[in-house]
Amino acid sequence: MTEALLAQALLALGGNVGNSRAILDRAVALLLEKGDIVLKARSADYLTPPWGFKYQAPFVNLALVVETSLSPRDLLERCQQVELALGRDRAHEKRWGPRTADVDIIAYGDLAIDELGLTLPHPRLFERAFVLRPLVEIAPDRLIAGKTVRQALSEVDTTGIKRLPPER
Ligand code: AMP
Repeated sequence: MTEALLAQALLALGGNVGNSRAILDRAVALLLEKGDIVLKARSADYLTPPWGFKYQAPFVNLALVVETSLSPRDLLERCQQVELALGRDRAHEKRWGPRTADVDIIAYGDLAIDELGLTLPHPRLFERAFVLRPLVEIAPDRLIAGKTVRQALSEVDTTGIKRLPPER
């Protein structure tokens, strides 16, 4: 029997519509449901100021380290299925506006690709404290495009980001 090759991937989740902590818990459960994505580490939940379009509720963000046998494209498709299952409506939402659940691939192994619909590492990673702050908790020394997560975090403004205590 041949074993499927596993890649380590970093995922970033966020949302600001509805009970975001419960919705993101559900998103994590849905991602793991089929067994082809295995959770290695999960950050705490963070409350983060809205980014892009300012006049909206704060976001809840978290990060995951996973191992997966899915290809990058299949992983992206799974992330989008989860967004849809949780009620995300891309057709009607504002760019960088409110959303129930956003699931992004931050990195997939050391792969660098820039294709229609999929760029890895995630192109806006190094601007986003709301991704880097949760991520540093679970992958501080992970190198992405030649920089550790810790280094990248030290270069962004983390004002207003709050780590949330566990819910129970
Ligand atoms: P967003 O509104 O942030 O969820 O952006 C989603 C769009 O970004 C989709 O059309 C994806 O195809 C595209 N995209 C490109 N690279 C990535 C990535 N690394 N992770 C998630 N979505 C990506």
